[in-house]
Amino acid sequence: MKNERTLVIIKPDGVQRSLIGEIMKRYERSGLKLVGVKMIVPTAEHVENHYTIDPEWRRVTGEKTIKNYKDKGLPPPSEDPLAITTIILANLKKYMTSGPVIAMVWQGVHAVKIVRKITGGTEPLTSDVGTIRGDLVLDSYQLSDTDGRAVRNLIHASGSVDEANKEIALWFAPSEIVNYRLVQEQILYDVNLDGILE
Ligand code: ADP
Ligand code: MG
Repeated sequence: MKNERTLVIIKPDGVQRSLIGEIMKRYERSGLKLVGVKMIVPTAEHVENHYTIDPEWRRVTGEKTIKNYKDKGLPPPSEDPLAITTIILANLKKYMTSGPVIAMVWQGVHAVKIVRKITGGTEPLTSDVGTIRGDLVLDSYQLSDTDGRAVRNLIHASGSVDEANKEIALWFAPSEIVNYRLVQEQILYDVNLDGILE
């Protein structure tokens, strides 16, 4: 459990807004351990492979978008989830290849869920205050759809352990991930805390 890993990508808008340090700080201070990090400019093919790793992504993301519109009392752009994600994927390719991104692997207990919690929900308009997407950016589905682009929400974070393992393999060679001990793990995970007092 303590070795669960998740993939985080600071998207091009995060890099351009000089938020690399702020974003990394938020994950780092949670107690998670950074075990891989690099800057790259992804290709469109890489971005498509990334988002279609989960065969359900097209359907689920389309349905999520339709529900979001209906919850706000607005008509969705289409009733067909797959038609919606075809457009989202094309827009994501433009977004994610527009400049450098920072790809990271964070490790620790419940890494996937902890990172999703710190990151916040997909749409910055409704992401919780205190999360990265809730605090540091202000986009909405309504604006991004009107402007025909992807929602700018600073971060990608894996949605499940299975997705994380596949995504990490897509973005990192095994040799780029470092296995090491972090001294704070003694405090986070040690059962007895018997090494503190002299
Ligand atoms: P998350 O990044 O929170 O896991 P998804 O996997 O559902 O969200 O979608 C991937 C990315 O696609 C989002 O982070 C966002 O940038 C973009 N996106 C998702 N839904 C929409 C939408 N309805 N309109 C525009 N962009 C979207
Ligand atoms: Mg996702």
